[in-house]
Amino acid sequence: MIETAALLRPLTVLRCSFTHIAFSKTIANVNTVKKVHRWVNYESMLKECLVGRMAMKPALPKGMLPQSQVTDTLAKEGPSSPSYDWFQTDSLVTIVIYTKQKDINLDSVIVDHRDDSFRAETVIKDYSYLVHVALSHEIQEDFSVLVVENVGKIEIILKKKENISWKCLGHPLENHNSFIPKKDTGLFYRKCQLVSKEDVTHDTKLFCLMLPPSTHLQVPVGQHVYLKLPITGTEIVKPYTPVSDSLFSEFKEPVLPNNIYIYFLIKIYPAGFFTPELDQLQIGDYISVSNPEGNFIISQLQELEDLFLLAAGTGFTPMVKVLNYALTNIPSLRKVKLMFFNKTEDDIIWRSQLEKLAFKDKRFEVEFVLSAPAYEWSGKQGYISPALLSEFLERSSDTSRVLICLCGPTPFTEQGMKMLHDLNFSKDEIHSFTA
Ligand code: FAD
Ligand code: NAD
Repeated sequence: MIETAALLRPLTVLRCSFTHIAFSKTIANVNTVKKVHRWVNYESMLKECLVGRMAMKPALPKGMLPQSQVTDTLAKEGPSSPSYDWFQTDSLVTIVIYTKQKDINLDSVIVDHRDDSFRAETVIKDYSYLVHVALSHEIQEDFSVLVVENVGKIEIILKKKENISWKCLGHPLENHNSFIPKKDTGLFYRKCQLVSKEDVTHDTKLFCLMLPPSTHLQVPVGQHVYLKLPITGTEIVKPYTPVSDSLFSEFKEPVLPNNIYIYFLIKIYPAGFFTPELDQLQIGDYISVSNPEGNFIISQLQELEDLFLLAAGTGFTPMVKVLNYALTNIPSLRKVKLMFFNKTEDDIIWRSQLEKLAFKDKRFEVEFVLSAPAYEWSGKQGYISPALLSEFLERSSDTSRVLICLCGPTPFTEQGMKMLHDLNFSKDEIHSFTA
């Protein structure tokens, strides 16, 4: 089936899409066909293509419902259901997901291939669309994911292990072709390898995990994942927010195939349940990492002029990517101010990086506030308070577009929210990071 949009594209593109839709069966015959059939010239092939003869519909395996008959449990008010299609060449199988949405990107799709199970979850607003099949033939470990943003199309390009023609993509697995509210989907985990662990403060470490090559996963700015470890025979799960490897990482959308490393700043609590076990992991050990979750939306940063970040302790973690993203991608941004609350100077994560960034980028300022400072500390002291906030939250103009992000221990976040409302900031101007 050829998309309507494709029919309107210039010929060169059509030619290209013709090459794409030349499936192995077709391709295998083309050379022979060229020699013997009168109709094999570009115009006639194109005509055939437009009427759909050259574009092979995916053969449905036994038991797999045609897409039009797929029941989805989508609530009436939700976005319309995506659909998928697939095609092949001698060496490749391409799965195409038509999301019918414009605001999708490489973060929107999470792909995992393990053994013969292939799983691609596309997140669209609060919904999840799943392609989940047992592939009919073996594929190589690595694959590519492409997103055509303006038409909302995702292409997952798999490499065949053997150059043979596939009669069908595979057999449906649990929830294949479903489009359901994200809150109703379980968390999906894949095993990642610990590749490095560095001390950052006396109790906080930077962990670097490597995704398997058979996974495409990018954690969106402001979202967290769950880490899972077996502890005394039970699987224990805790949320953590990925960060960049440093404050100076250029924030670019990765190109093919994906980012393979995920970094975490994690505080180890000696009397904690999970973090001492995490700290015991050796380089090369594996830990399960879930799909991302969270309610921060990148569009909250669009056209922003003033960004204020209120972070306490490891509540700094969601601020790292927000800060990097805003400074790199928001041209309207005039200033970013971080007020960072800690107990002591020794607890401040990435202090010298923050100071260097403030020196390097005049839009960025940082202020440290300590709740248990040493005698010599001459900076700000205490817990979050209306006095600290009203002095700190100075708009660059009366009408400037502002966002205030908060994250830290629950009492910090709750008190901060109340203070911000009392200071007349609207709900839209405040984002608190919670589980
Ligand atoms: P816990 O067992 O939960 O204990 C934590 C502390 O509380 C310890 O000091 C412990 O002694 C004390 N404690 C436990 N129970 C009691 C009790 N009954 N009475 C008194 N004290 C008690 N953390 C990070 O370091 N980095 C992150 O990026 C990060 N991201 C997060 C994202 C989200 C969305 C959320 C909700 C939390 C995040 N956290 C993060 C916190 C993380 O999920 C864990 O809560 C944290 O690592 C502590 O886990 P733990 O099991 O080691 O400690
Ligand atoms: P901490 O105990 O070292 O405290 C850091 C600062 O938080 C203190 O200096 C103080 O200014 C403030 N604070 C602490 N208790 C307070 C209270 N009762 N009232 C007002 N302010 C208070 O912090 P930590 O051990 O690094 O803990 C960080 C917290 O952030 C954890 O609870 C973690 O779960 C949370 N966190 C949440 C997310 C998220 O929701 N996305 C992400 C990362 C961390």
